[in-house]
Amino acid sequence: MALTGLDIFKITPKTNCKDCGNPTCMAFAMKVAQGAIPLDKCPHISDEVRAKLDEATAPPMKTIKIGAGENEHTLGGETVLYRHDKTFVSKSLYAVAVSDGYSDEQNETAFADIAKIDYERIGERMRVDAIFVDYASDSAKFLDLVKRANDMDRALIISCSDADIAEKALEIAGAGKPVLSGANASNFEAMNALASKHGIVLGVTGADLNELHDTVEKLEKAGNKNLVLDVTMGNIKDTFAATVQVRRASIKDGDRTFGYPSIVNTARIAAGDRDMQSALASLFTVKYGSVIVMEGMRYADALPLYGLRQNIFTNPQKPMKVEPGIYALNGADENSVCALTVDFALTYFVVSGEIERSGVPVNLLITDAGGYSVLTAWAAGKLSASSIAKFFQEADIEGKIKNRTLIIPGKVAVLKGEIEDKLPGWKIIPSPPEAIQLVKYLRELDV
Ligand code: SF4
Repeated sequence: MALTGLDIFKITPKTNCKDCGNPTCMAFAMKVAQGAIPLDKCPHISDEVRAKLDEATAPPMKTIKIGAGENEHTLGGETVLYRHDKTFVSKSLYAVAVSDGYSDEQNETAFADIAKIDYERIGERMRVDAIFVDYASDSAKFLDLVKRANDMDRALIISCSDADIAEKALEIAGAGKPVLSGANASNFEAMNALASKHGIVLGVTGADLNELHDTVEKLEKAGNKNLVLDVTMGNIKDTFAATVQVRRASIKDGDRTFGYPSIVNTARIAAGDRDMQSALASLFTVKYGSVIVMEGMRYADALPLYGLRQNIFTNPQKPMKVEPGIYALNGADENSVCALTVDFALTYFVVSGEIERSGVPVNLLITDAGGYSVLTAWAAGKLSASSIAKFFQEADIEGKIKNRTLIIPGKVAVLKGEIEDKLPGWKIIPSPPEAIQLVKYLRELDV
């Protein structure tokens, strides 16, 4: 169970020396209990006590790394059941399944579709994170698929409960640190030896949660805590129940045996039904799939799914912001027109994208508005004629830019007069209200 602030306070030196940057040992202890600062900020706690406390204050769910190099991903490390309680930590990964049990056509389509999804949204690259290579019965075809998947520059999950065949797959793909999934009640010793030999994460399965729990206990007893839990059961209902129960057991009940990230295989519980798999991928992004496997990923599936994931896995306590300053777009220089907006990341990426699409050189001025959108910032008093004038002064806009035309967001056209008073010599023009109108507007702008 997580320690309370009082538990932690008891082991501090209680000298209130402030070396940790806190006024008292009690204040320090409360922050450690909330996870706001690490224990090692106090230099006066002995290594022995620290080691014991590190174990006790570690997140209830382990942080597990899969893949290597640019394809390394972090799973788990979660501390809350609900995002609004604090934040979710490690985003769900989307994996596309290929299998020797599928037709060649299905596998080819899956590989081709993986390559097609690669785009950027709000500064994040969106692509299929992992390939799930599933062994059914044809070892030659399976190993050929492992080779193909290994060449695709993605993290791999090798799903195979036959240790001999899994060993051959790892000879091909072991260097990329794949997950070896398929340890169960009857093969866990051989699979554990294989995962340990290659230094990789072992995926554990079970016929039900009791069997899964027992197998994980045995693996932990054998010294392996580098695990993920495949919580896929026989159907959608049981899989959803298992996924939620495992997460609740680790976070709420402090059951560290279930304190590992999960794999949910929608390709198994909704085989052949791609629309259902898309719907399930959304469900398990919210609750609580660490790796979500699908039979394929079409571009049209990816757009809403990655948008959902990006929303769920941002910290609700921290607005998504970009740095205030001058962003010269389309080769803008000191003679180019200026356009101003707020530092809310979504606003920045939408507005900058439309300006880039227009091809017109524009100095995009991003003002500090607390990470709020235009209307919210205006209503909260964080976007006003005074705040804009202050930004102009601090960023030395007039020293850096000779052009004296400033386009302001159409939604705050009401500020035009006040801004003209604060920035004498500037021509202030409200833009159209929607960013999508900017392309035509800028191309036709005569300044
Ligand atoms: S550095 Fe340690 S001893 Fe000093 S105030 Fe912080 S917690 Fe207390």
